[in-house]
Amino acid sequence: MSTGEEVLRGEIFDSNNHFLATALGERGFAVQLMMTAGDRREDLAFVMRTALERADYLFISGGLGPTDDDLTTEVAAEVAGVGTFFHEPSWQAIVALFQKYHLEATANNRKQAVFPVGATVLPNLNGTAPGFSCSFVRNGVRKTIVALPGPPRELQPMLLAHLDAIAPLQHSPEENLFIRFLGAGESHLSELLEPWSKIWGPVSFRQDFPEIEVKLYQPPADKAQALCAFAAEHMSDYLVDFSRESIIQLFARFMRERGLTLALAESCTGGLAAKVITDVPGASAYFVGAVVSYANAVKEELLGVRANDLATHGAVSESVARQMATGARARFKADLSLSFTGVAGPDGGSDEKPVGTVWMAKADASGCQAQRLNLLQGRERVRQAAVSHGLRWLMEDWLAERRRQRLAMYRG
Ligand code: ATP
Ligand code: MG
Repeated sequence: MSTGEEVLRGEIFDSNNHFLATALGERGFAVQLMMTAGDRREDLAFVMRTALERADYLFISGGLGPTDDDLTTEVAAEVAGVGTFFHEPSWQAIVALFQKYHLEATANNRKQAVFPVGATVLPNLNGTAPGFSCSFVRNGVRKTIVALPGPPRELQPMLLAHLDAIAPLQHSPEENLFIRFLGAGESHLSELLEPWSKIWGPVSFRQDFPEIEVKLYQPPADKAQALCAFAAEHMSDYLVDFSRESIIQLFARFMRERGLTLALAESCTGGLAAKVITDVPGASAYFVGAVVSYANAVKEELLGVRANDLATHGAVSESVARQMATGARARFKADLSLSFTGVAGPDGGSDEKPVGTVWMAKADASGCQAQRLNLLQGRERVRQAAVSHGLRWLMEDWLAERRRQRLAMYRG
């Protein structure tokens, strides 16, 4: 259950319910209902009561702040049929946090140290409002309300830190199967999967553009094995990995394991590849740098692309992509390099090179290879997809080996 007028009116996107459903689903909870109430006492009580009639656990986000419209604690206590108490250690933590920023906690903040009687306090490491977990028995059945702060950067770590204590694990997360694909749409993937689905039942897809994830929660071992084997045999062009790690996370792991360094030469991606690589903390261990060579003059001067090839073949061409990659590798003295040059759109396409045409090249000590991508959809998607394709391409042997190991493990 999410709370707050801003969420109710659609002014902010409800990422808390989304996050809770995902994290709890993976944990083995069968999510039954997802609801939102504004800041009105009667609506909050209605949603809490309704939820607890249907489910054993109710996870609430928001309304733990210091102001009058923050009513979660009061209403939860009322629904649980208990009073409230003032928790001195929480108050001291709030005072200390304010002091750290040379501020003074106000009388209002005392409210954030009040909890339903019998509740377990969940300390907040990223803000003032602690959360709480509160269990009670209704008609002979144990019910639990877990109240978490609204701001996602406070809610998410709090849930993850306390989930073991709130709801001890029924199974290990390793028992879930995730398979990630790149380069095929949902409908195409489900078509490819059809023979498998006929025997084992349908699977659902989750878009994490440009990747698509298939997941099975706690599948029987034979079903999991059958799906991995089927994907390896019939969907290998699109297969990334039998895990839930994204291409960029896998890429970080790949570079660390191989102990290599990487340089980039980016044209149509405009620095996006460098951005996503450096989104991962610790990227300095393997990422050297990039040239965003948008203008032809920069391709020539900083990467050594021949003016003649630019004039003859155009900037979006195999030979330019190759020279960008070898130029970046040489100038950055990197082990590996990757380049992108393409037509991201919306304008600039031609019959020969329509919007979505991207040439990429990779170079290493053994030489240079180039590949043409024909991507679909708007400018941003073309750029994102190009980067993901490029990174997967760099680690394709490593990914194939990982998949082989996983299949061998299944076969036991
Ligand atoms: P605060 O002490 O900040 O008031 P709170 O626990 O009372 O925290 P809310 O007042 O409900 O929480 O929300 C505070 C902020 O947290 C909102 O302005 C919004 O930015 C974010 N937030 C709240 N609920 C959600 C939600 N469901 N999804 C995404 N963000 C949310
Ligand atoms: Mg608030």
